[in-house]
Amino acid sequence: MIGADHSGDTWYEATVSRYSARTFLRGQREAEVCVIGGGLAGLTTALELARSGVSVLLLEARRLAWGASGRNGGFVSNGFACSIDSVERRLGLDAARSLYGLSRLGTDYVRAEIAVTDPGIRMGDGWLGCLRYADPVGKQASVAKMASDYGQEVQYLDVAATRQRVATRRYFQSGLDPTAFHVHPLRYALMLAAKAEAAGAQLCEGSPALTVKRDGAGYSVRTPGGEARVRHVVYCVSSLDRRLHRPTGRAVLPVATYVAVTEPLTQDVIRTRSAVSDSRRAGNYFRLVDDCRLLWGGAITTRVSEPRQLAERMKADMVSVFPELGNPRIDFAWAGLMGYARHFMPLIGTDGEGQWWATAFGGHGMNTTAMAGVLLARAIASRDDEYRRFSAYGPRWAGGPFGRAAVQSGYWYMQLKDRLDERRSHASREQESSG
Ligand SMILES: Cc1cc2nc3c(=O)[nH]c(=O)nc-3n(C[C@H](O)[C@H](O)[C@H](O)COP(=O)(O)OP(=O)(O)OC[C@H]3O[C@@H](n4cnc5c(N)ncnc54)[C@H](O)[C@@H]3O)c2cc1C
Repeated sequence: MIGADHSGDTWYEATVSRYSARTFLRGQREAEVCVIGGGLAGLTTALELARSGVSVLLLEARRLAWGASGRNGGFVSNGFACSIDSVERRLGLDAARSLYGLSRLGTDYVRAEIAVTDPGIRMGDGWLGCLRYADPVGKQASVAKMASDYGQEVQYLDVAATRQRVATRRYFQSGLDPTAFHVHPLRYALMLAAKAEAAGAQLCEGSPALTVKRDGAGYSVRTPGGEARVRHVVYCVSSLDRRLHRPTGRAVLPVATYVAVTEPLTQDVIRTRSAVSDSRRAGNYFRLVDDCRLLWGGAITTRVSEPRQLAERMKADMVSVFPELGNPRIDFAWAGLMGYARHFMPLIGTDGEGQWWATAFGGHGMNTTAMAGVLLARAIASRDDEYRRFSAYGPRWAGGPFGRAAVQSGYWYMQLKDRLDERRSHASREQESSG
């Protein structure tokens, strides 16, 4: 199961030196705020609260950034897991533009925090989004729309320019986002933790919150070793604990995705140091990391058990796009769990009685967790209400096991549609060249 402790088997864990574990919560402690969950959402919220002078205690069940935050693809870019087109269809252009602006705030935050403290966390610039079928007109139109409606710079690349960067017949046109970059996500998370502690936050590991109960004007949060008495609670547990806070727990579905890292490679097919992804709905994303290893991510499923022969499957996937890679050795392969709401947008809000949440960032959490942490810290510290811009995307029931089955069928349908689109495109190209 993905829930089992496999924290040592990611390339990220192998390339950071973790301090000795932080202490767990023992006895009784008081603070203004208890943040539950030590992923990027919890860590940014704790850091920003501490910077605002609010006393904050963070409880992490295992180790900081043990979840998706310390094992993700490391791509940082504007936007959400939900496409901005779909936000615009639902809320209109003005509201979509304003939410897109907040997502950009998250990207800027990550860039700035890294730049002032540890620039080495940034591993490359740019994001190349490649089509797996030919559609020059559609791609140019979407690039133009992002520029005119959202002020988002993206450079259109034709097939030749795309294949100069990634030499594969599988990819056609692409868009290069020069405002995106990619990072070592675990180093970034541990940097946030160190800054939060320096600003006065108390961080506890090995301290799962078991219950949260009303206690006078605030709350009592119990762990196996102690109790925190606080005025506010912020839930940042993603899909990893769905019983602690029922309203968000029942609105978030766990979705698994996988990453593999090869041995250091000598190759001439991936010629860019930018991050790359393809247009499939549950598509591939990859990048070269430090010593020319290929970090390759892909597959999305609601099955939370780790597939057998994960490394072999990931290798087959990368070789299907780049046969020239031959038979690379896979040195690391791991799974991670994301949290998705039905609408694919993050859940950021409050019950108005001191309980807050920042969760369901899906596969686009690097920037959106930063944004959420900033918004909630401002709300708690100075009653800022910008977080309310997310109120259209509330915690609706995700449908329990039926919701899961529906999402899985949705993925299968999208995968089928991707394949049909690709086949249609290949067929029409063959017709053109024979005609
Ligand atoms: C393989 C993979 C690749 C991805 N790639 C990208 C990418 O390239 N770019 C991008 O933007 N996003 C990516 N994502 C998504 C991104 O990683 C997530 O959206 C983001 O990390 C979510 O952060 P979080 O803090 O909400 O959750 P998590 O990182 O899952 O943290 C939740 C934490 O809560 C703790 N917890 C749970 N229950 C309790 C409890 N009761 N008490 C105390 N603590 C508790 C957990 O142990 C965990 O540490 C990827 C995700 C995965 C899995």
